[in-house]
Amino acid sequence: MKNESKNTVENINNSNEKLLLSDVMLPCPFCGGEAQEDSEYDSDENSPDGYQFFVSCKICGATGEKFYSCTTHEIHLNTKQKIEQRENIKQSKLNAIVSWNKRA
Ligand SMILES: [Zn+2]
Repeated sequence: MKNESKNTVENINNSNEKLLLSDVMLPCPFCGGEAQEDSEYDSDENSPDGYQFFVSCKICGATGEKFYSCTTHEIHLNTKQKIEQRENIKQSKLNAIVSWNKRA
């Protein structure tokens, strides 16, 4: 009985830790404002279909580290490429949030 309840508490702690790293954006380190997911078109001619994903502050406009991801229109991709691209975009957004949270 004791072991069971201990395991449950540990599981909750583990899932909270993951949440802090990825799903929750900490407030702005400069003004304490609310943060949001943001992206901008990358006009670099070497990467015409790319977007930069980052976190920005709604109040002062401070931005976190930017992570590039290719965003070719899915009509031009086969199934495997679509899955890879979606995974890459997800990873770029995740990296941006983790990076922002480390600085916040
Ligand atoms: Zn701010």
